[in-house]
Amino acid sequence: MNRAEHLDRLKTRRDPWDIAIIGGGATGLGAALDAASRGHSVILIEQHDFAKATSSRSTKLVHGGVRYLEQGQLSFVFESLRERGLLLRNAPHLTRALPFLIPCYRWWEKPFYGLGLSLYDALARKLGLGRTRLLSAVEVRDRLPTIATSGLKGGVLYYDGQFDDARLAIAIARTAATQGATLVNYVKCTGFLKEHDRITGLRTLDAETGEEHEIRARVVLNATGVFVDDLRQQDQPAAPRLVQPSQGVHLVLDRKFLPGNTALMIPKTPDGRVLFAVPWPFGPEFANGFDRVIVGTTDTPVPETSLEPRALEEEIHFILTQAGRYLTRQPTRADVLSVFAGLRPLVNHGAASNTAGLSRDHTIEVSPSGLITITGGKWTTYRQMAEDVITRAEQYADLTPHPCLTHTLPLDDNADPAIAVLIASNPSLAEPLHPRLPYRQADVIWSARETMARTVEDILARRTRALFLDARASIEAAETVATLLARELNWPPAHQAAQAQQYRDFARGYLLTADPIS
Ligand SMILES: Cc1cc2nc3c(=O)[nH]c(=O)nc-3n(C[C@H](O)[C@H](O)[C@H](O)COP(=O)(O)OP(=O)(O)OC[C@H]3O[C@@H](n4cnc5c(N)ncnc54)[C@H](O)[C@@H]3O)c2cc1C
Repeated sequence: MNRAEHLDRLKTRRDPWDIAIIGGGATGLGAALDAASRGHSVILIEQHDFAKATSSRSTKLVHGGVRYLEQGQLSFVFESLRERGLLLRNAPHLTRALPFLIPCYRWWEKPFYGLGLSLYDALARKLGLGRTRLLSAVEVRDRLPTIATSGLKGGVLYYDGQFDDARLAIAIARTAATQGATLVNYVKCTGFLKEHDRITGLRTLDAETGEEHEIRARVVLNATGVFVDDLRQQDQPAAPRLVQPSQGVHLVLDRKFLPGNTALMIPKTPDGRVLFAVPWPFGPEFANGFDRVIVGTTDTPVPETSLEPRALEEEIHFILTQAGRYLTRQPTRADVLSVFAGLRPLVNHGAASNTAGLSRDHTIEVSPSGLITITGGKWTTYRQMAEDVITRAEQYADLTPHPCLTHTLPLDDNADPAIAVLIASNPSLAEPLHPRLPYRQADVIWSARETMARTVEDILARRTRALFLDARASIEAAETVATLLARELNWPPAHQAAQAQQYRDFARGYLLTADPIS
């Protein structure tokens, strides 16, 4: 997936594309893959890097949503469980089944959650990942050695999925490219082309060169997550806002706070929120350590959208306090290896009193001028969202309808064998980027050549997860990454130095100072 080649197609195509997609997160990339595999000509533009926004900041669960079961959203849970099963089949090397444990401290919790999770298993039908079981207090302690035991009555063990969000995004992009899609990062949609009040294309701005272009398309999809309203209002200035952004924060800790291979799930903290502590990352490259646990999340309505949302002090305080309630080791600010925040694109139909109560289901809207907006949903349901929106786009633009093929389409980034070949040809590329990070120089080279990585941040935040595993170590690795990229992308020395410095400044936002006031 070479950016210059894809950009060239953007600039030189004379015929209108069947479908143009704005936004390169889970939703847009999924739609590009669906459309290309049905045989449509499709172009996707992303203003920053693929998965820069919400799609790299999730809890990294492929799940049905136990919480939504309690809210009675049965059909949403059913759909999510089916999608969970399909994703684990189609991307086995980027996903895994993981046991989750709900510790029970009150007598009614074990039968209550046990019953609910048996229903969860039943809804998953043949795509289930393992049977729910009731555990004694001793069994809970065996699985979660650091769990708080005072008053522990036992627990409920169930199974859900886990994945690497940013890496899956790249796998979807690469699979879409193999199917014929054109995808370009660092190109922004700045406006629409219209004839007789109908959208016939869009205007673009290349963030690297400042060049402007026009793309003509039979139908345009707005898949920009929490940013959909900016484009909806460019199209129809009076359009009421659709999305209420809700911020979720995670803290990354050393695995000593939660040893073992079972995740902790608290369905209702004393103030009524959900808390996860999930072992992460996983995969053969992490066999020698680098064990972390992700703890979160929060659900805070925020007034503004941003590509770089920042955790609020009260969110950090909430996560640390609640983790300390359920774990024998109280984590402190000094233990936090990285803190990251993301914005959920929740669709506000006007009924819920808080963001936790807003539906996680997706919404498709067609504007009077024909802009098709898709937002909401979850990473887990990205494939179904793509299927729905491409079917809608076929109908709207009168494209020849084709059946959706993604139910069984394998998603593969082919990274591991290709990186092994690079190292065989140049063994020095096996050198680690940093002693505290599980990545090699070859990872940088491959990502620059094959995944459109354009900046130090692309490498350290999304092609590798260095920023999320250990923000400080990633800052220390910035110079090495800039040197490698400079060679690969022909950067002049001044650009190389600026890139390393920009990354260091940016990544400081993922560190916690010991004192919240400083
Ligand atoms: C804290 C948190 C935890 C979550 N955990 C989970 C989980 O464990 N499991 C799960 O299934 N789901 C989870 N989700 C939900 C999931 O992450 C989101 O539903 C999904 O990532 C949304 O993808 P998207 O493509 O719609 O949006 P985004 O990923 O935000 O993508 C939109 C893209 O559009 C681009 N864009 C915007 N404007 C323009 C423009 N003018 N031109 C070009 N590009 C533009 C942006 O740069 C961005 O990259 C979580 C969400 C949050 C916030």
